[in-house]
Amino acid sequence: MQWGKVFVYSSQLAKLGGEFGMRPSRKTIYGAVEGFPIAMWDGMGTKTISVAMNLGECDDAEELLSEPAKKYRIQRILTGRDSARFVFHDTYGTIKRMRAFLQTELPALAARGMNRGFACLHCAEPVGEGAAHVLVNDSLSVMHPDCVEPFEREAEAEREIKRHEPAPVGGSAKGFLGALIGGFVGTIPWAVLFIAGYLASFAGALIALGANFGHKKFGGPPGRGRVLTVVFVTVAMVFVASALGEIASAGWYVITGEMDRELGLLPGSISLWPFLGEYIKFAAADPEFRAQFLKNLVMGYFFAALGLFGVLRGRMREENPSGKLNVKRLDA
Ligand SMILES: [Zn+2]
Repeated sequence: MQWGKVFVYSSQLAKLGGEFGMRPSRKTIYGAVEGFPIAMWDGMGTKTISVAMNLGECDDAEELLSEPAKKYRIQRILTGRDSARFVFHDTYGTIKRMRAFLQTELPALAARGMNRGFACLHCAEPVGEGAAHVLVNDSLSVMHPDCVEPFEREAEAEREIKRHEPAPVGGSAKGFLGALIGGFVGTIPWAVLFIAGYLASFAGALIALGANFGHKKFGGPPGRGRVLTVVFVTVAMVFVASALGEIASAGWYVITGEMDRELGLLPGSISLWPFLGEYIKFAAADPEFRAQFLKNLVMGYFFAALGLFGVLRGRMREENPSGKLNVKRLDA
């Protein structure tokens, strides 16, 4: 399975880049600001500034870089070898904050010498003029032009070996259990909303997210196995959630005594469990009920698919475990 890496940028971002002499390259906004090679792009609810940055001369890069995080509403800062990524929470005023970040923070980092003395990501030798600027997945790195191709080849070979390493024993089983638990927890909001009389199927998305989270938390290995497990558990749990919602809602009717009142009986006349048994038998045989149930189920699957899409997309961006390494040379 291969995930293509798709970068996109908005016209807003292109305009901001233009102010700093940056321009579009390979679906990113690319250029150099204060001597830092930079690429920017739009994500789902985020905007990213990826910077090639010599962190070698900085004792505590993480701490230094996290200082501006609050000020500019930066969601995450990720550092790699001589690269840093600033992921901005994309809300009202993001472009303004990014502009301020570029104008204020980059000169400060440049003053520390972090914009020079880059080492090649491939051969670790110093790179001077004519460096190639390469996006390796999301990290902007500096390489000798001749080093790009061998880097890509070797990195891909390494990943190929990793991909065929056996998963830790029991990891898949534990991951499956985790996905089941996570998916089941994801059904609870559905049931609660359903009882309260709301359209609950949009909570189907939570089931997919819960299953994915559970699989990860229980140590399930990433990759194709996780995707299949999450899809399987989601399909099963959306059905469970639909049924659970109906049953819980009928049960609630009994527990609150509304059923007794409606039938003109004394409070407490109907006991819960025998009633639920009868209710399930009745519902399963009733065409009208079945049609309504099916309708809710289809809606649930629709929203679950949206949740799955979010999970898979997130996986593409964050882990990219079974896919090809994405190496993109940006052109000045
Ligand atoms: Zn090199």
